Amino acid sequence: MAAIRVRGVSVYFGGFQTLRSVELEVGEGEFLAVIGPNGSGKTTLLRTIVGVLRPRVGAVYIDGKELQEYSRLELARRLGYVPQGLERQKFLTVLEFVLTGRRPYISFDYARVDYEKAMEALRRVNAEHLAARTLDTLSGGEFQRVVIARALAGEPEVLVLDEPTSNLDPRFQLEIMDMLRGLTGDRITVVSSMHDLTQAYRYADKVVALKGGQIYAMGRPEEVLTEDNLQRIYGVKVKVFPEHRAIILDNSL
Ligand code: ADP
Ligand code: MG
Repeated sequence: MAAIRVRGVSVYFGGFQTLRSVELEVGEGEFLAVIGPNGSGKTTLLRTIVGVLRPRVGAVYIDGKELQEYSRLELARRLGYVPQGLERQKFLTVLEFVLTGRRPYISFDYARVDYEKAMEALRRVNAEHLAARTLDTLSGGEFQRVVIARALAGEPEVLVLDEPTSNLDPRFQLEIMDMLRGLTGDRITVVSSMHDLTQAYRYADKVVALKGGQIYAMGRPEEVLTEDNLQRIYGVKVKVFPEHRAIILDNSL
């Protein structure tokens, strides 16, 4: 059974249609990369998958059950979401913030196990040393890793991330991508939007390319990330090096 199934989903903002009849499946423990130009509907798709947005037409299923049939608590335990451009609550410490990822599991107050899970999540993103810092003192990349840690602290079965590596330097980009790949080994399903096409090629099992709110192409990275497709999707020339699993953008080619 697919961990995530999106069936005939259309999303509108007022009269404006942002997603058109989107249909996709992600298997348990698979890594799906969502690519596409700015405004193509990536964030809208991710927000629909985690239930922040409700489609006007169609439905999203998690483990075979429609999103609307889950209680909020059940859903919060299964899904982790790392949004883009989250506001910082300045005076919280990193540990306090990451602990909020344990909320779906606590009844009264945090227990020892919650602190352990929070610290373990910080270790996973190499941010353990930041635990006592307040959020306002973090660099953009440090904060991004801490937001990912908060999602991991909730032990999600499905982790959805919106451009998680956009603020990170090359080393941390690779660390986060390796870490996400490692999660799929623990049968966690990962869905992530991204702009780095080489990373999509190297890390994803499956790529969905959006254009104008529709799925333009979907399949294995080597099927979707072709020079023809990418030129049509982004309107720029690209060069694909399949033997290196690498892609460069270059209008001079
Ligand atoms: P992407 O993440 O691929 O850049 P988005 O999903 O954020 O794209 O946006 C897709 C389209 O939907 C854009 O044209 C955007 O302006 C529109 N849109 C997104 N959110 C809203 C909203 N809350 N209200 C109105 N329009 C929106
Ligand atoms: Mg977006």
